[in-house]
Parts: sequence; structure tokens; C-alpha cells
Amino acid sequence: MLVKQQKDACFCNIGQLLSASGGRAARGMARNLQAQPVSLKIRPLSCVAVIGYIRFAMRGIFCTKEVSSGIDGKAFSVRALLHKELQGCNVYTLDQVHSDRIVFAEDITPGEIPEADAIISRNVNDVLCVRTADCVPVLAWAEDVPLIAAIHAGWRGLALNIVEQCITAMRSLGSKTIRASIGPAIGKCCYVVQSDVIEALRVEPSVNGQGFLVVDLWEAAACGLERAGVGRSSIEIKGVCTSCDTDRFFSYRRQGEKAGRNISAIGGRSWSLPGLQVG
Ligand SMILES: [Zn+2]
Repeated sequence: MLVKQQKDACFCNIGQLLSASGGRAARGMARNLQAQPVSLKIRPLSCVAVIGYIRFAMRGIFCTKEVSSGIDGKAFSVRALLHKELQGCNVYTLDQVHSDRIVFAEDITPGEIPEADAIISRNVNDVLCVRTADCVPVLAWAEDVPLIAAIHAGWRGLALNIVEQCITAMRSLGSKTIRASIGPAIGKCCYVVQSDVIEALRVEPSVNGQGFLVVDLWEAAACGLERAGVGRSSIEIKGVCTSCDTDRFFSYRRQGEKAGRNISAIGGRSWSLPGLQVG
């Protein structure tokens, strides 16, 4: 559901428009946007880690839990952290509610944290961020126009087709070539579910080694991208399970209510992340 916060905007026929959070930029986009490196120094350098970047994944980052350790993981604190470190960038975070609400950064007033689960921006100075702890972070960007998006997609959001809706909204802004990266999220190795989740997602479950039904949220997100016209060759799945990878990621299933939140971010400018490992 596209949540339009400006009455005369181009998405008014779609519905409401949302907003989102921040991230980091990519080299690919630099071709179009004359990327200007920005230094990101988040605490000790060793605390910043990024899951291997290849090609188009250079446009977004999926941070480990150490990036957000010490903060409460909530939208405001994450925004404050990134805003401080990414000076010159507009950092957006969302009040995530497992909905299909999508907002445009340009519709968000300064200081506002809109209730939404995806955000789109055409501003190269924007950084869009989502927070997850088992849910799927999807970062998307256009190759042909300045356009980025960050999506928080749990099973509820996936069932509501938030991924397809967000990509469709991006296409409506003129992009024909969209790529996306699916970040660390709970894998089917650990995502034991009941029939309600299976029915909502409309997917075929698998049975794990203990005889429990499991579903693959990574694949569900990828299928959403495909349904919106993003080809498999333009989709990267990090393939990292937040529940299994106890050292690097927070996990709601593993840690419960007190779990922190992993940060995923995307931006329209090139960043320099000290200690960043790009693979
Ligand atoms: Zn796992």
C-alpha cells in the first residue's frame, strides 16, 4: 500500500505512501550520480562488518549486530547514529509495523519517523534504513535513474506483497532496470512455522530434520521481486541465517523480545566504510 503524504503526488491513485530508513551507496549508482565518498565511522572499526558485496550489492549494506549494539535498536536511535556518522546525508528510518505501507522520502517532514515498512527515494543524499531481527531486509536500486528503496519484509509483509508493491512503485518513477539484494534473515534451517504462516505466504513448506514445517523467507522475498519483474540475475540472496549466525546477527527467534535489531541501509552516494570487507 503506497501511502501518499502529499495529496497531489503521482501515487495518489495507488494509495498511501510511506517512508523509510537509511543506508549506504554504491559504486554502480556512482556512474549516474557522481558519487561523493562519505566516511562512515561507526564505533570501533572492527564493529562494522558487511556481508560480502559483489557487483550490484555495492549499493547497500547489511550491518552486523555490532553496529547497533549499545543503542536500543529503535528507529530514532538508529537514525541518530547514522545521521551523525553520515554527515551530509538525510537518514530515514521507519516505525515498522509489519504492514504493506510504503512511503516516499520526499514526503516525510524533517524529524518524522513514519509508520511504514518500505521507503523509496530519488534523492542521492538520502540514506534509507530498515531494522530487522529475522525478518527479511530487501534493498533495491535502479540502474537507470537515481532511485533506491529499503524494505522490511517479515512474513506478514510478504503475505501482503510489500516487495512487489515497492518495486512496482519504483517502476512508476521511471526505472526499467531494478536490482535487489536480500539480506540476512532467518533461513528455512530455523524458521519453523505453523499453518497460518504457510497459508498466508501461499508457499509450499518443507520439513526439517526434526520433522517440523519450515518455510523459506529468502525465497519468498525473491519470488516477490520476480513477480514485480526483477529477473533472477538481478537478485542477490545473501543466504545468511540470523538465527544460526549467533556471532554476527540479532535474532528474534533465538533471543526473544530482547533481541536487538540488525541494520540494513542503502544510499545514493558512495560511502567509505572503514574496515568494510567487500567480497
Ligand atoms: Zn538457521
